[in-house]
Amino acid sequence: MMGPLSIEIGKQNIDTMNAISVDVEISDGLKKAKLENGFYNLIDGERVFAGKTLSVVNPATGNQLAMVPDIDRVLLNKAVGAARKAFSGWRAVPFSQRRAILTSLLDKVSEHGEELIVLLTAERGGTLAQARWEIDLITKALGPAVLQMELREEEQDVPHIGHITKRYTPIGVVGAISPWNLPVFLSFTKILPALLAGNAVVLKPSPFTPLTVLRIADYVHELLPPGVLNVVTGGDDLGPWITSHPGINLITFTGSTFTGKRVLESAAATLKRVTLELGGNDPGVVLSDAEPEKIAQALFDSMFLLCGQGCISLKRLYVHEDIYSRVIEALVAIASATKVGDGFDPQTGLGPVQNQLQYKRLQSVWDEIKRSGAKVLFRGDVPSNTEGLFFPVTLLDNPSDDASFVTQEVFGPIRSIFKYKNLAEAIRRANNTSYGLGASVWGSDPVQLRAVANQLEAGTVWINQHSIRNPLVPASAYKESGLGVEFGPEGLESFCNLQVIATKQ
Ligand code: NAD
Repeated sequence: MMGPLSIEIGKQNIDTMNAISVDVEISDGLKKAKLENGFYNLIDGERVFAGKTLSVVNPATGNQLAMVPDIDRVLLNKAVGAARKAFSGWRAVPFSQRRAILTSLLDKVSEHGEELIVLLTAERGGTLAQARWEIDLITKALGPAVLQMELREEEQDVPHIGHITKRYTPIGVVGAISPWNLPVFLSFTKILPALLAGNAVVLKPSPFTPLTVLRIADYVHELLPPGVLNVVTGGDDLGPWITSHPGINLITFTGSTFTGKRVLESAAATLKRVTLELGGNDPGVVLSDAEPEKIAQALFDSMFLLCGQGCISLKRLYVHEDIYSRVIEALVAIASATKVGDGFDPQTGLGPVQNQLQYKRLQSVWDEIKRSGAKVLFRGDVPSNTEGLFFPVTLLDNPSDDASFVTQEVFGPIRSIFKYKNLAEAIRRANNTSYGLGASVWGSDPVQLRAVANQLEAGTVWINQHSIRNPLVPASAYKESGLGVEFGPEGLESFCNLQVIATKQ
């Protein structure tokens, strides 16, 4: 997990139209990270910088970091055409060889890890430690684990039909669309299994955070045959062009539930396969036998993961009345000791909100909280005299179950804590949501913990933890939090067609 880092902040400036230079002296023995090349799309193995541009901003300072291409439909068609062409060759590469190539791709990312960490911190706005955690996750832990997976082939004799072979074949061209909160992790957990299974990919990172992914594409593209991996950037039109493109066979999308519904609608015309990982409004239920002081840090970390901008962040906490005051006391103590600021500052615990749109949404949530008269347990400090998008850590005490900031996903550092008397009531209130991504239960008695877990309506229910993912373990969703499965063998298989060969006996 995230470890402490010691750094000295250097200067940050813009060199040219599409180039960033961030100098950061990292004093824990790491080399100086210098980022001074431009950012290009990767199409058919070529670096492309054409057409209009989009500006990428550091949310901690408001400074423009770089410009990236805002490609038109002609260039997207070129990327999809290149992927279609590359698909037949790539699927024919033996599985073990594809795995070896993708392993060398991860090694290449690792080689450039230090500068990628700086770049990710600058564009996403979390802390350096969070960026290090994300890059390490991909290069050292989760990425290699994904590459260890196999596609199952099963044989069976079945009466009336004969000898059955079940096999998984790649689908074709995958359109991968990722959000801004974990730009590298959520792009790689799509492209690694998609490519391992033998597909070609057109990846579109979020226009708010495209830089680290574009830089990685630049570093790794020569390891792959041209067209196997294409990375494109653009504005509001690009996503719908991808989801409706007849040359794309599958969409793997991570983002909001609102956009997920648009994606599904748009993909229907060409009956694309669709995997949707969407928003969450995760509840946590703390049982009366939990030890507040022991679990408080883990609760807080999950609640304020990426400054509260995590899909599987714990968003509503239901605490038994016997220990309510101890839980809130412990959470307020941690919140008071957590500094909000620029992620390059080693004292910072939580960075800024990632973009203006998100910041404005949070301001209107705060206006609604004030109008509702909800009791505010804690509201922290934020840096002043800055263009950075810093939002105070906010804890609410027993707001109404019907308040919009309780029923809807709040993507930022505002969290609600509720007191309950009996468990049935807590479970009912925890499940009273249109979302069903994650949920958790906290306590001591394993039998009771498991009994509560069984009643929570979510794709993943954690016991005495929250927000933990491993690509070997499938991630799915209930209700409006998604469709299909990512991660695990089921996730790898979802990048494939299932084929049955039935031989007469
Ligand atoms: P978003 O839905 O606004 O955007 C996600 C991606 O979709 C971006 O790349 C965006 O450019 C693209 N997009 C926008 N409109 C599109 C359209 N009509 N068609 C196709 N693509 C389109 O989400 P966001 O604000 O980037 O991310 C935050 C949301 O993502 C939150 O709701 C969060 O819970 C969710 N999320 C879910 C998971 C998960 O695993 N379930 C993980 C991270 C984030």
